Amino acid sequence: MASLYRKFRPDVFSSVIGQEHVTKTLINQIETGRIGHAYLFTGSRGVGKTTCARIFARAINCLSPVDGSPCGKCEVCKALASPNMDILEIDAASNNGVDDAREIREKVNYPPVNGKYKIYIIDEVHMLTGSAFNALLKTLEEPPAHAVFILATTEAHKLPATILSRCMRFDFRLVSVDEISDLICKVYDKEGKTYDTDAVRYIASAAEGSVRDALSIADMCMSLSNGKLTYEQALGALGGVDRTKIRELFTAISSSDVGECFRCVDDLAVSGKSMGLIAKELTYYARDLLLVKVSPKLLTETEEHIAMMREDAERSSVDFLSTMITLFSSLDAELRYSVSPRIVLEAGCLRACKLAVTDISALEERISRLERLAQGGALSAPSEPARSVPPADVKMSPQMVWGKVISYFRLNESARLQTLVGNHTDFEVKNGEFIVWCGDDYLDFNDKAVLDALDRAFALNGIGYKIRIDKRVERDKDKELERLRAMVGKDVKINVIK
Ligand SMILES: [Zn+2]
Repeated sequence: MASLYRKFRPDVFSSVIGQEHVTKTLINQIETGRIGHAYLFTGSRGVGKTTCARIFARAINCLSPVDGSPCGKCEVCKALASPNMDILEIDAASNNGVDDAREIREKVNYPPVNGKYKIYIIDEVHMLTGSAFNALLKTLEEPPAHAVFILATTEAHKLPATILSRCMRFDFRLVSVDEISDLICKVYDKEGKTYDTDAVRYIASAAEGSVRDALSIADMCMSLSNGKLTYEQALGALGGVDRTKIRELFTAISSSDVGECFRCVDDLAVSGKSMGLIAKELTYYARDLLLVKVSPKLLTETEEHIAMMREDAERSSVDFLSTMITLFSSLDAELRYSVSPRIVLEAGCLRACKLAVTDISALEERISRLERLAQGGALSAPSEPARSVPPADVKMSPQMVWGKVISYFRLNESARLQTLVGNHTDFEVKNGEFIVWCGDDYLDFNDKAVLDALDRAFALNGIGYKIRIDKRVERDKDKELERLRAMVGKDVKINVIK
């Protein structure tokens, strides 16, 4: 049985998906009869370069093209439908020498047998050697009137400028998840295969923009499932991680539930998922949540999934999510070389849990949303980006202020300053001053770099207090004096001996 990709390979431009910007120009050239001698088709693998080259090659020879595509009925179309001497496909990966290029140069002079043009489609043209390029260039400089060259490549930057300057260039783009999903649905419908839309969407997003990959995966999934193709089957076929499991893990992290984190990691490990894959999926999930918050239009998920993600997104701030992305994507290298990747991942989750505790911004975002609601405004365009400056009327506790300072340090300051500032837990707000009470590290803490960084953190978060750093002992002494005064009465003078 022919593979789905071969079976459903388009033979007219209107069936090519995702490349309208290319096909429109090509059709226009066919309709006006202004055919060039050299074309360059560039773009990722499996997006339709060779397919378009083949359609174009037959269309320019067709006696009566229909909407710029070959009619498939005239004698030329019929002759070109089977192997012929007019449309020649050369794979430059295996024919990359100067002799191959010379052979093209000699043979190109023989006129076409069936139609008007003789077409050379050279695939992976960047694989040609330097001398082969030179030989090809000579042909491109003075081609016979009947010759058309279509060079296809995934790596146009590897071509010499002399070749590039001779070609009309067409950039093929990656095909969107929506377009690929539609295609798979159509193909499955024609094959009489039933499916869950979730499964199809999962296949489409796994193909990362390549139609060929999408149809190969669709093919594989079709042979694996007998009845209706389910999301779980598609997931299993590709060895992917179930989004609901990743969601569970993420919820555990954002609610700082360490025990639940370990359980989720164990659950995923038992089902055979590698730690690298879990870290990658967590990164993607955090990124998607960030998109839900700032730019939901860019998401390729279904409405249903987006609604679900909105709940998770609401619990986390933009700061927290971007830190999650940095954290889990940086784990990748560590996981690759670690002898115990599971511990690396678990430690990463713990770090994330700790960060979640100080995710004050999320709380503020929710408060300001509720406030807007209370004022009669519409509840939350959730698409609105989080604001880093808290509204003036939200009174923050010293702990909340410090949480903001810590998040700022984590994202912007050196590791030394992060540790110095991170260990402090004792604060007070008094007469418009924010006082940080310190122990023995008081001197370090008065370091100019620390003070400057703290000023920046306060200014950036729109916190109006002046910062003061003081010795914890001093405060204890003051408190002790107050206690003594209360005991003996206000009028008694107390001498403190230093
Ligand atoms: Zn025709």
